[in-house]
Amino acid sequence: MPVKTHIEDGIGIIVFSNPPLNPISARAGIPQAIEAALHALDADPQVKAIVLAAEGRMFSAGADIAEFDKDPAAIAAPARRLGHVLDGLKKPVVSAIQGGALGGGLELALATDYRIATADAKVGLPEVTLGLIPGAGGTQRLPRLTGAAQAVQLISGGTAIDAAQARRLGLLDALAGDDVQAEAIAYARSVAGEGRRRSRDREISNEGGPSAMAEARAKAPRGAPGDAVRGALNAIETGITQGFDGGLEVEYDLFDRLLVSEPARGLRHAFLAERAVARVPGLDPALKVDPVRAVAIIGSGTMGTGIALAVAQAGLPVTVIDANAAALERSRSSVESAIARSVERGRLSEAAGAAQRALIGFSLDLASVRGADVVIEAVFEDIVVKQQVFEALDRLADEHAVLASNTSTLDVDRIAAFTKRPQCVVGMHFFSPANIMRLLEVVRGEKTAPLTLARAMTFAKQIRKVGVVSGVCDGFIGNRMFEEYLRQAYFLLEEGALPQQVDAAMEAFGMAMGPLRTMDLAGQDIGWSIRKRRAVEQPDRPYSRIPDLICEMGRFGQKTGAGYYLYGKGGKPDVDPAIDALVAEESKRLGITRRPIGDEEIVERCVYALVNEGARILEDKIAARPLDIDTVWVNGYGFPRFRGGPMFHADRVGLPRVLSRIEDFAGAYQGWAWQPADLLLRAAGSGIGFARLNGDGA
Ligand code: NAD
Repeated sequence: MPVKTHIEDGIGIIVFSNPPLNPISARAGIPQAIEAALHALDADPQVKAIVLAAEGRMFSAGADIAEFDKDPAAIAAPARRLGHVLDGLKKPVVSAIQGGALGGGLELALATDYRIATADAKVGLPEVTLGLIPGAGGTQRLPRLTGAAQAVQLISGGTAIDAAQARRLGLLDALAGDDVQAEAIAYARSVAGEGRRRSRDREISNEGGPSAMAEARAKAPRGAPGDAVRGALNAIETGITQGFDGGLEVEYDLFDRLLVSEPARGLRHAFLAERAVARVPGLDPALKVDPVRAVAIIGSGTMGTGIALAVAQAGLPVTVIDANAAALERSRSSVESAIARSVERGRLSEAAGAAQRALIGFSLDLASVRGADVVIEAVFEDIVVKQQVFEALDRLADEHAVLASNTSTLDVDRIAAFTKRPQCVVGMHFFSPANIMRLLEVVRGEKTAPLTLARAMTFAKQIRKVGVVSGVCDGFIGNRMFEEYLRQAYFLLEEGALPQQVDAAMEAFGMAMGPLRTMDLAGQDIGWSIRKRRAVEQPDRPYSRIPDLICEMGRFGQKTGAGYYLYGKGGKPDVDPAIDALVAEESKRLGITRRPIGDEEIVERCVYALVNEGARILEDKIAARPLDIDTVWVNGYGFPRFRGGPMFHADRVGLPRVLSRIEDFAGAYQGWAWQPADLLLRAAGSGIGFARLNGDGA
């Protein structure tokens, strides 16, 4: 039974249950059953007041997002009905909130007369993060409790707040100890004779409202991703000027339109995909894995230091080991200043900063890996150095330890073979800066044991990274695709585009940063050394000389003050006519008559290069599902979240259209790079999308 009712000395108690997060799911019959229970108790003469409570660790996380695309029309209707049913009751209702009430879960509680919550509860309306607005009365009921200014902040920011703050804002009426249900019953008894206190009947205090609105409008992202924020503000404003019902009408209408909009679909896919990547196909979900308790990192350079900060931020002890005392000292002072900065900026309390500092130890002795459950190697990208380190780790590390390499380009299977326990070895490809970037590619070697993989994925979650499993290949999922993307950017330059045009087109598409600016930020020298190696390994493979020419000028990007752009103070890129001339000169040398290239072609070529290589990565079983690729690109490469990821985006465009453009490109300049992947040919031909390959993931 999803909803149980009983009466205790004049108080009617409704307890609903839809484990684990109690979504108000119409498919599970929750709102319908609550509605029936409310009517029954309201009509029962022995009941004086009602308590609405939920089983489990949380009151409700809101609607079930996995249901949104199955039947959009059925999503909001039952929750809205419930709000109206609550409005029509004769008796007061008290919500008993444990753990949290989010989205539709909070909207349900807002429609009751009183809210009482445990001290650890989090409450919020995160709908804008999914490209939506609250759609079951949240934009109208919340401002009537907290005032317009606070409601604007909460709804447009989409962040949850803790119970104490919610109490101060008037969102909650009281805080409770552990037994919130018992306290809610006592509360209900105390208000039983007082009649209703519906949120809809209150006036909105608009003190500070207009300036909060102006600030939220200014902060809202441009274009489609900001539409949800602007829509929510519009609904709140209408509620102020036209009253509850007028505001509600605007809210419902906007929610219904946003729900089926492309950006909201993309954001939902990104959200669900991020959860699905943790369920690794073929890995037994029942595999029991102990959480990691201690970590060691070998190599205290850029990556080792960043990873150490990420581990300490998650509250785990970590030892950073380096062979070079000066490098270790530099790492120690980087750690110090990173933590000090966070404290200065108020992101971390003094005490929390001190606690993080205390969790990070430094050592010159490789034997300090003893006791670590996970050992992460982040030494120079040189197979001989990796060999020395892994042979030593094989002798020194605990028997059960996961041995991970942060290599970007070397063969993880070769590295595993340096040990007598290749089953314990994985790749952990972090992204720089490792304490900030959420993506972690977990590279499964040929001999990696399922338990090792499961432990690596658990560790990713512990340090709050999005772990995505990749097979072994040059570049893994992300960089292998990035290479094809960049190749197109360079060929576009040779044919007629300029760096600033390529970057602007990709940024208008929604990329966090255009490809050439990205290379300037990452440092051109890294790619240069990889290209030199490739020129020896694959001398016949054509590639653009433009990035090499720029490197030969000593322009390695932002760190040298110049790359594709010139960088002054503050790191703002300025267009450099010298680069425009260099690009034009290279076209001339190649005998190309430069032509105007439209932004649409730039976007199609760069993005379809990703899609085509993504399809090959699926064929090669480097990524298990399209959603794994999407998650890598949204979390590690600045692909617009509202477009879901490259593979999701391709489905939305339509695979036959993507394929036909790829065929056009194959007949044009450097067409060899456009051999369509078999999987793309098959999927486009049979009319199915990549989504079919996601299984029940997303
Ligand atoms: P780095 O040069 O900044 O640091 C390497 C550190 O390893 C140095 O402090 C060095 O003293 C130490 N070291 C070298 N040999 C050692 C040994 N035998 N024992 C102990 N310490 C030793 O390098 P980085 O940029 O941090 O990269 C480290 C690894 O991470 C490489 O494999 C690289 O490919 C990979 N990676 C780098 C990035 C990036 O953006 N920098 C991103 C992902 C992965």
